[in-house]
Amino acid sequence: MNKLYGLLGHPVGHSMSPLMHNDAFKQLGMNGFYHAFDVPEGKLNEAVEAFKLFNISGFNVTIPHKVSIMNLLDEIDEEAMMVGAVNTVVNIEGRLIGYNTDGRGYLTSLIPMLKKPLADSNVLVIGAGGASRGIVTALANQGVSLLTITNRTLEKAIEIKDNYLTYKKANLNILSLQDAEKNLAMYDIVINTTSIGMSPQIDAVPISIDNIKSTAILSDLIYNPLQTKLLKIGEERAITTHNGVGMFVEQGALAFLKWTGQQPDTARMRKIVLQQLGGFSC
Ligand code: NAP
Repeated sequence: MNKLYGLLGHPVGHSMSPLMHNDAFKQLGMNGFYHAFDVPEGKLNEAVEAFKLFNISGFNVTIPHKVSIMNLLDEIDEEAMMVGAVNTVVNIEGRLIGYNTDGRGYLTSLIPMLKKPLADSNVLVIGAGGASRGIVTALANQGVSLLTITNRTLEKAIEIKDNYLTYKKANLNILSLQDAEKNLAMYDIVINTTSIGMSPQIDAVPISIDNIKSTAILSDLIYNPLQTKLLKIGEERAITTHNGVGMFVEQGALAFLKWTGQQPDTARMRKIVLQQLGGFSC
């Protein structure tokens, strides 16, 4: 009998997760099936009850349920607690256990591109939303030389810093967008975690990169479009760029591993996602 897996979010029509996971089940000869369930706000409790009733083996959680799902789980792992959001749930004999694979997935995609160890790198994270929290948690746990958060709404960055006071592996500070732009030359890795660069803001950039150093890595979590305006400007200046496809694939692969104990072929997953997005990757 097929084991059932799914995505719980709203909207989910555009999701590439079913294609990616169903192909992985097929490749590994597993009887698994992954379906995207459109669950509007206010219907989460009923959806989770239904998932339990039908013994869904595991599921992903996306906007707008990543935080509210936490109240409905039996256990939440430490990293997801730190992030304050869950994107992956495993059903172990009726007990629902929540994880967050976004930050780890991001780091797995970034590490092959590094020019020097993360421990010696100064990292600037632009944005202080949900994705930023995942990235900041993973970087703080991994350990970097300096971790700076900048955001339009500075209070949100300060809130993240206050939550991470206990995580000492990173020297964490906050800068305004203007100060971050001014001091950009001191960062080895610059990461956009805002939605600026995505539709409808495809012609906008979250920060001016005039002062970026030539050896920096410029990273953007956005994968649609594959090349944001920010990455385009970076590429024109011969800066190494990194888009969000790797993060999408790796967070999915980590979820797959948690559900099944099997490592999917991430190169193949990447190819499938790129085919859907119809382009090249950097
Ligand atoms: P979110 O929680 O809504 O946070 C949005 C962030 O963008 C905040 O920092 C917000 O600043 C900033 N922002 C939005 N509009 C802005 C504007 N006009 N000017 C300045 N700042 C603006 O969203 P999220 O869940 O963190 O997602 C952020 C991005 O990450 C999205 O593009 C998403 O697609 C991408 N993402 C990618 C992956 C992947 O697998 N590659 C996974 C997760 C997310 P304020 O705090 O000032 O509002």
